[in-house]
Amino acid sequence: MTSNPIQVPFVDLSAQHVEVRAEIDAVMAHVVDTSSFIGGPLLARFETNFAQYCGVTQAIGVSDGTHALQLALRAIGVTSSDIVLTVSHTFIATAEAIIQCGADPIFLEIDPDSYTLSPIALATWLESECKIDANNVCRYQRTNQRVVAVIPVHLYGLPADMEPILAIAKRYSLKVVEDACQAHGAWYKFSDGTQARAGSMGDVGCFSFYPGKNLGAMGEAGAVVTNDPNTAHQVRILRDHGQNRKYIHQTRYGINARLDALQAGILDVKLARLDVWNNRRREIAAYYDECLSAITDIQTPMSPNFAYHVYHLYVILLDKRDLVQQKLQDLGISTGLHYPIPVHLQEAFRDQGYQPGDLPITERVANTLLSLPMFPHMSDNQVEYVVTKLRQVRQSM
Ligand SMILES: *Cc1c(COP(=O)(O)O)cnc(C)c1O
Repeated sequence: MTSNPIQVPFVDLSAQHVEVRAEIDAVMAHVVDTSSFIGGPLLARFETNFAQYCGVTQAIGVSDGTHALQLALRAIGVTSSDIVLTVSHTFIATAEAIIQCGADPIFLEIDPDSYTLSPIALATWLESECKIDANNVCRYQRTNQRVVAVIPVHLYGLPADMEPILAIAKRYSLKVVEDACQAHGAWYKFSDGTQARAGSMGDVGCFSFYPGKNLGAMGEAGAVVTNDPNTAHQVRILRDHGQNRKYIHQTRYGINARLDALQAGILDVKLARLDVWNNRRREIAAYYDECLSAITDIQTPMSPNFAYHVYHLYVILLDKRDLVQQKLQDLGISTGLHYPIPVHLQEAFRDQGYQPGDLPITERVANTLLSLPMFPHMSDNQVEYVVTKLRQVRQSM
């Protein structure tokens, strides 16, 4: 096989780090010079800036996105043997956080175009399976478990259709925990014209700053955002062994999920560039859309007018997916699968009792999805190369 002049990695963070290198070096030197490694002023500054960016009053830095979800669920009152509703078409961490609280996930179907939680599926499930008891608690009729919360996932950078989801949740007294781990900086537009950032619409929002996310640390990091002072207080003590003051412990569910000063300082540097980087992602996505929508049998991502999509991932649906992926790899183009096996069919979640066929839209999407290279520092040449080669591969099949 002849070697190709252009290689396109799935994600390449090195160019991003060239851009911010001097500022990151200064942060690292500052941390070493002050020997202040955990919490402290760098954390406080990032929390203030990230809260302001998201349009909320409170942001709490935590160790990673999975713990952000777990602590958010605990803070709003999810306890052992409760039920939390979410989607199966997500990264496993969404469901793991529910299990970590001792609760049971119930997986609902996605919308076939947006790939996010279907408001219709949510309403239908609640209508047929739940009853509101005398204390205004939503109960799963089969088991009498409390149904406490729903987690819409703003997957790939596209906010879920929050307006109907919030309305349905309110009707059933459910808390809404947004999994915004892939949607830093995304917007949702309500029918009255007001806009809100991903993470700021529900009772609480959760972020991951895993290095490859739109806003990424240089290690593990996450955050919880909310407008509710009590929820914020709960998350603050839960992340630090349940203590309010040193050695005064208020809850036994405390863990160590603190955020390093170094990561907070690095995130602050990158936060200042997030909008520019997201705009470049959107520019690449628009070019992909334009070129790929002309190829028959490729479904390009939906960009509904209710949302400002930030394209954490650019995911297409197509048949013969595995073959296309292999051919692209042979041409020097790396692609990804997010995610090939839905959570409800994972071995790890077998106890929940799901079978193949239970969530047909989720399963069809999982079997046909393909994530194309997408990162803000991708060159025009690289984007063009992906489009050209994908067209050729498709024509040859
Ligand atoms: C990345 C991610 C998480 C988990 O974040 P970590 O920081 O890796 O723990 C949770 N949910 C979704 C949708 C994610 O993409």
